[in-house]
Amino acid sequence: MNDFPQISSVETFIISIPRQTPYLGPLGPGESINSRGYLIRKGNRSIYPDSDMSVLVKVTAEDGTVGWGETYGIVAPDAVTSIIDDVLGPVTVGRDPRDAMVIQEDLYDMMRVRGFFGGYYMDAIAGVDIAIWDLFGKLVNQPLVKLLGGQRMESIPVYVSGLPAATLEARLQMAHDFKARGFDAFKYAAAVSHEGIVNEMRVLREGLGPGVKLMVDLHWKFSAQEASQLISQLEPYRPYFVEAPCQPEDIEGQAHVGASIRVPLALGEEWRTVYEVRPRLERRAMSIIQPEMGHTGISQFMQIARMANAFHVKVIPHASIGIGIFQAASLHATAALPNCPMHEYQHSVFDRNLQYVNTSMRCEAGAFVLPEGPGLGTEPNESVWQFIRPKGKQ
Ligand code: MG
Repeated sequence: MNDFPQISSVETFIISIPRQTPYLGPLGPGESINSRGYLIRKGNRSIYPDSDMSVLVKVTAEDGTVGWGETYGIVAPDAVTSIIDDVLGPVTVGRDPRDAMVIQEDLYDMMRVRGFFGGYYMDAIAGVDIAIWDLFGKLVNQPLVKLLGGQRMESIPVYVSGLPAATLEARLQMAHDFKARGFDAFKYAAAVSHEGIVNEMRVLREGLGPGVKLMVDLHWKFSAQEASQLISQLEPYRPYFVEAPCQPEDIEGQAHVGASIRVPLALGEEWRTVYEVRPRLERRAMSIIQPEMGHTGISQFMQIARMANAFHVKVIPHASIGIGIFQAASLHATAALPNCPMHEYQHSVFDRNLQYVNTSMRCEAGAFVLPEGPGLGTEPNESVWQFIRPKGKQ
C-alpha cells in the first residue's frame, strides 16, 4: 500500500486576457487582427493572438492538495486542452506525484511510435509535468528548486526582451528608462525593426553606451549566408548574442552560421525535447540554447540544460506569454543549473500578469527574484477566472 497522496484529478482551463498593445508592439503596415483574434506579423510571417492566451493545468491529489501547471496556448489552445482532457489526464490519475519524471517519460512513450515528438502533444505534456512537480513540492513542503538537484541562485540576472514601441526613438527611450531602473541587457526584435536591423543596434549601442549587453532576435528571417553577412555588419556593435537567424528546420544553415560568425549564436525557443537539441549540439550550431518551459516542462528542461552543459553550451531560457506559472517553473529550474548566466524577461507580459498570481516572484533592478514557498510558490488567484475562455469557442 502506498499511503502518499496519489493524483485524483487533472483539469484544464483556457485563459485569454485582453491586451492594449499586441505582443511585439503596435500593428505594423499591412497588419490586422482577424475574426479569430489573431494577427500575422509581416516581419516574420508568424501568427500571434491579440490577447495573452494561456492554458492552465490543475492537478489535485487525494488529500485535496493542488498543483498548478501552465503551457503554451497562444494559438488554438483547444488543441492542448483536448489532448490533456482526453488522453493525458485520465492516464495520470492514480499516479504518485513523486514520480514526476517517470510520468513525463510514460506520457511521451504513449504516442512516440505514432510520430508525436513535438508540437501540441509536447506542450500538453509540459503543462501536466509542471503541475505534477508543483504538487510534489507542496506535498513534501519543499520549493521546486530543492527537488531539482539543489539551489545555486537566489536571484537570476535578466535581459529586457523586446522594446514594444512604434519608433526607434521611442524604443531607445524605453531602454533608457529600464537602464535607469538597474537593467543592463536589452534585446530587440527583427520582426518589428522597421528602421533597419543594423541601424537599430547602432542606435542602441551609441545611445546606451558601451556597458550594456545588446542582443537581437533575427526571427528566423534569413538564409544562412544572408545571416552571416548581416551578423558581420552587427559585429562592430558587440552583440552579446544573436538569435534564430535561419528557419527552425534548417540544421545545416544553423551550423553554417554558427561556424562562420564571431558572435555567440542563440537558438532553441521552439524545441521541446532533448532529441531536437542533440543534433544541434553535436554540430556545434550554437553557444547558447533558449529552452522554453511552456514547451518543455520541467522534466525535459532539466535534461536539455544538463546535456547542454556537457557540451559547454550556456542556457538562457526563453520567456513568453503566460500568467507566470511556467515562468516560475523556469526560474526554479534555472536556479538549479551551473550554466545559466541570465533569463529572458518578457516585461510587457510578465509585469502585467503578475496581478493574476499569488507569488513573491518579481523582477527588479535587473534580476528575477525566485518565488518563495513549496512547489512553484506561485498559483493563480481569484482575479484570473474572469478571463476564462470557453472550450470550443466559435
Ligand atoms: Mg525569439
